[in-house]
Amino acid sequence: MSRKRVLLVGGGLTSAMVARLLRDAALAGEIELHAWDRRDTIGGRASVEHCEQTGGTAEMGLQYVTEVDGVSGEHRELYDALERAGLLVPMHATIDGARNADGDGPKWVAPSGFDAVTKALFDASGAHLALGRAVSAIERVTTSHADGHSSTTWRVSSAGLSGGGDEQFDAVVLTMPVPHVLALGGAVAEALLARPELLEGLRGVQYSSRYALALFYAPDDERAAAFFAQLPWTCKYVPKEEDDAVVFLSKCAAKRDASEPPSLVVHSSVPFALSKLKESVDPDDATAELLARVRALLPGLPEPVETRTTLWRLSQVRAPLESAHAAHTLADGDAPLILAGDALSKHGSRFDGCFESAHAAASALRTGLGLRAPRGPGDAAALGA
Ligand SMILES: Cc1cc2nc3c(=O)[nH]c(=O)nc-3n(C[C@H](O)[C@H](O)[C@H](O)COP(=O)(O)OP(=O)(O)OC[C@H]3O[C@@H](n4cnc5c(N)ncnc54)[C@H](O)[C@@H]3O)c2cc1C
Repeated sequence: MSRKRVLLVGGGLTSAMVARLLRDAALAGEIELHAWDRRDTIGGRASVEHCEQTGGTAEMGLQYVTEVDGVSGEHRELYDALERAGLLVPMHATIDGARNADGDGPKWVAPSGFDAVTKALFDASGAHLALGRAVSAIERVTTSHADGHSSTTWRVSSAGLSGGGDEQFDAVVLTMPVPHVLALGGAVAEALLARPELLEGLRGVQYSSRYALALFYAPDDERAAAFFAQLPWTCKYVPKEEDDAVVFLSKCAAKRDASEPPSLVVHSSVPFALSKLKESVDPDDATAELLARVRALLPGLPEPVETRTTLWRLSQVRAPLESAHAAHTLADGDAPLILAGDALSKHGSRFDGCFESAHAAASALRTGLGLRAPRGPGDAAALGA
């Protein structure tokens, strides 16, 4: 059997988990794995800002993982492998304020950041990861062979910082947020037009929007160290009555028990972000307003050395796709085209939601390509322990 070329679109957690689940097939030489992300950083909505000036880091999206009730099987195996590799550790930090939505399962943090978790999963799979490469179109290519049979591949066009151009793949897994899938056109649009119920369902998937702001402090800033040490929490959900623009505050290094210079992560409320987007407010002005709200909440907050902002237009999934499947095969036969991501899982925007969808996508891909290599057990060494 010739080695099949598989493209995972997206460099976030779902894509990295699919890669890890296909590791055995990659090692056995059955597939050659590629992953492309349009951004020049890894992790998607689990991305991390690294401040060169201070050496500090700030998780701008995913903060901590709360296990869904009663995880077992391969979910458990992934947690165990990540824990053995030191990439996930139990969260000890205190969280002020209630957030019941995720239940009260065990909580995990990533000592080196969730971008490191994503990277380790990709590295373990041997996938060729290209950042700054945005998929712009996917077209079906049918080739007739001399013996009378025909075969299908996908021509994937891309553009971006790290170059672009067309490449052919035997299978493609799309893991980006649903609006980015719906914007693709070509073979994806054709496949969805043939599945009106799925298309309607995908159009109904909703996301929240929010700003993330990071404040970085120098390692020798004693005032900042003293200020953060006296705060009675490590993470805090801010009640609406206290402030309606700021929803979450986190001392990022302390949250992860990391010996790094302090940084403070701020998440805005969804209404705040929506109103700024609706009024087309300049992002710098929105950030300045958010910072002023933080200063009012935390009197005496020292001046940071550097600030960074991310506007998450598509933040967390509010209404996932209502479906019995956590991944959908848009085109099968010998060239699967598969749709995955947190929006397709009943668990939505959670680590276990990404894994449920990744697992379904990897299984569909194995079946579609007729892969033989069995799934091996979790392997901490392969995760860079
Ligand atoms: C502010 C915030 C806080 C959160 N807090 C938590 C939390 O505490 N706990 C928790 O469990 N979850 C949390 N989440 C949710 C969690 O981060 C997501 O569920 C998860 O990261 C989604 O991973 P994904 O791989 O499915 O999607 P993504 O991370 O969105 O990855 C998809 C990738 O596809 C790329 N892409 C898009 N279009 C293209 C294209 N045309 N070509 C190439 N690449 C493309 C994107 O750049 C992106 O990197 C939070 C998310 C946000 C934004």
